[in-house]
Amino acid sequence: MDYSSFNLERCRLLAGSEEACSKSNGVAYFMNRDQRVQDNWAFIYSQELALKHNLPLYVLAGLNINHPESPEATRRTVEFSLGGLQEVAKECSQLGIEFYFLKDHHVPINNRILKFMQETSVHCIVTDFSPLHPQRNQIKELSDKIGNDSCLFQVDAHSVVPTWVASDKEELQAVQMREKIMKRFDEFFTEFPVIKSHPIKAAQASPVIDWDQIRSSVSVDESVQSCEWAQPGSRYGLQRLQKFVTEGLEIYSEKRNNPTADALSNLSPWLHTGQVSAQRAVIAVKKCEDLFSESVAKFVDEAIVWSEMSDNYCLYNKNYDNLNGAPKWAIDSLNQHRGDKREYLYSREQFEKAQTHDDLWNAAQIQLKLEGKMHGFMRLYWAKMILEWSSSADKAISTALYLNDHYSLDGADSNGFTGVMYSIAGVHDPYDAKWGERPIYGKIRYMSYDSITERFDISDYIKKFKVPN
Ligand code: FAD
Repeated sequence: MDYSSFNLERCRLLAGSEEACSKSNGVAYFMNRDQRVQDNWAFIYSQELALKHNLPLYVLAGLNINHPESPEATRRTVEFSLGGLQEVAKECSQLGIEFYFLKDHHVPINNRILKFMQETSVHCIVTDFSPLHPQRNQIKELSDKIGNDSCLFQVDAHSVVPTWVASDKEELQAVQMREKIMKRFDEFFTEFPVIKSHPIKAAQASPVIDWDQIRSSVSVDESVQSCEWAQPGSRYGLQRLQKFVTEGLEIYSEKRNNPTADALSNLSPWLHTGQVSAQRAVIAVKKCEDLFSESVAKFVDEAIVWSEMSDNYCLYNKNYDNLNGAPKWAIDSLNQHRGDKREYLYSREQFEKAQTHDDLWNAAQIQLKLEGKMHGFMRLYWAKMILEWSSSADKAISTALYLNDHYSLDGADSNGFTGVMYSIAGVHDPYDAKWGERPIYGKIRYMSYDSITERFDISDYIKKFKVPN
């Protein structure tokens, strides 16, 4: 293997040993979190392993909707994911790589993988990495079931510095995380080798995929539909990256908090699904370092440090989706204010329908529902107000996570769990005495309607996302 271009610390062996490759009919990359061909360290590792052992290369992918009631089971999310995978399948066929779609989504994904292994005698599996419980449990179960004559490798293809390399514990503040990431950054921030045409062909071609049949057979919430502005796939995501570099980056550091300015990359749907790699985005942005140094630094901080700190939080804090995952000072303070009188109390349905008394909050919620993405700065306000208008912090966390994951194209992501816990429960946002302590929030940082409307002329935003009569 050409290890010179691949830092082996990116990869860990979860089951078996590489010897299994000698008796395997191929290497299969189970593409889970990172749906792209190029710029994908898990794909690169898979191809190098296949070349080393003179084996054909397969890609396995499938929808993993074990619970149709889970918030992210919507037409919007499924179409985005399938669109991305369809592009991957096409690229694979052009490169002589067999793409298997693991259909029968009512069957647990591991059963579908094991069935593929049995039918093809492919014993060597590589997968990517997610710190979230469902994916981790699934991979743990797969590694337990895979059998002694097989092997399972995992590659962190999402972060620049692999999550388990950056730190072996929960990092409580960005300053420490930044230091740890930057210490190893240059080692891992290397150009991606290109996935090339695979010279060893599989004995049997993969079955033809009927994408329309797959689309129509999935049972999801049809009321949450695709968004015109966000077309799925790496090709479209990379075009958006280019648009950001030429049109948005210049004003990113100055205007990224302004909900009425077009200063954000809007890349999160593609980054979340792995259709675009954060490392590729940073490579593109860094080419403008001489022109817009502040914006470049800020973008790198968000796309690498804050995002990789979210993976760190979800990997090392098992309560990343509930109040127990908050720091002790925050839990104590929120508990002290549990009984505080709430001037407004809304149910999840009222929040969902944007039926609060606050036109700015309602506009943010409507933006989320219509566009599948809320402006980043508004996300903070939106979540904090859910705390203020809910009967408890626990309830606020579950409401915010449900709405975020149900409507956002980038939902059910470590950034989302961490963002909600940051806003409502003080995660990564240590108490500063100058904020003071206030009802309901206790020592959690507060954000007011006036603090936004005084800073930005928000009237167009409110008009644009008005609750329909
Ligand atoms: P840009 O500012 O252009 O940033 C580029 C990329 O950097 C983002 O796509 C993201 O990958 C990363 N990034 C930016 N800000 C953050 C941050 N604060 N924390 C971690 N990574 C960041 N992000 C999601 O990807 N999915 C979510 O479901 C999600 N839910 C959130 C919920 C709340 C309540 C809050 C406060 C934040 C949430 N975020 C979430 C984080 C952040 O708001 C989004 O990543 C950002 O708004 C995405 O838009 P963008 O790509 O245009 O951002």
